[in-house]
Amino acid sequence: MNIEKNPTEVASAPPIPAAAEQVPLRAKVENLNFYYADGTQALKGVNMPILDRQITAMIGPSGCGKSTLLRCFNRMHDLYPGNRYEGRISLMPENQNLVGPEADPVLVRLRIGMVFQKPNPFPKSIYENVAAGLRVRGVKNKAMIDEAVEAALRRAAIWDEVKDRLHRSAYDMSGGQQQRLCIARALAPNPEILLLDEPTSALDPIATAKIEDLVQELGRETTIVIVTHNMQQAARISARTAFMYLGELIEFGATDQIFSTPSHPRTEQYITGRYG
Ligand code: ADP
Repeated sequence: MNIEKNPTEVASAPPIPAAAEQVPLRAKVENLNFYYADGTQALKGVNMPILDRQITAMIGPSGCGKSTLLRCFNRMHDLYPGNRYEGRISLMPENQNLVGPEADPVLVRLRIGMVFQKPNPFPKSIYENVAAGLRVRGVKNKAMIDEAVEAALRRAAIWDEVKDRLHRSAYDMSGGQQQRLCIARALAPNPEILLLDEPTSALDPIATAKIEDLVQELGRETTIVIVTHNMQQAARISARTAFMYLGELIEFGATDQIFSTPSHPRTEQYITGRYG
């Protein structure tokens, strides 16, 4: 795969490691630029593979563009006028450009699931929160919805805790349970990619550990892209890591390699805690 290098910051970034070549691609970020409505260029020529059924972590100092990049995958930026993409995020195997003018942002959002920093359940029952994603996709059959709700809650490792109170308000749950519910809601329609934007930053250490275990388990069968400011978390759960700095992708590689022998001095400075 030809991952083009940005002429400045990533001049010394290594090619994608050979091991990555053997894993099928789920998506490919190609020469992606992103501009906010006020003219801020938050992404500069980003090239990155997203490998199928692996966890890819995006790390880097605050303001480097991690969330901006994540939100391109499901066209969240289109909820605000004036934001602009250049380049491609090609979803495989169709090679469909998710950020192209021909891609309908609403349809993209139906295919790419997202979980946010703060748990944001709807003011509805636990059951209805998970069913919501199926209902907007036109599923009406009650037995089918019942089955999918249970399957999603099981995958999100929360079924046993909620199976006797499915019709109680989601607001009666703890923060960690709410976040696992939001993961179940995102999983129910079987998204092609699951985006996680700092999913544990509002949680206590015990709830965080549960979500990390869950994400790791999900990563065996789901393509996940996670933004985290917690480097230990990235090192623990991801197979691939992308290090970003000032809107550019500085280095991408196997997580072990990025954390043990980073190729770029800026990556090394960041992971050794010298800035950010
Ligand atoms: P990170 O997730 O790495 O902390 P962000 O993606 O949130 O970084 O931000 C990247 C850059 O884009 C920052 O310089 C930030 O100030 C800018 N930015 C974020 N949101 C907006 C916005 N709505 N309008 C203009 N600039 C923004």
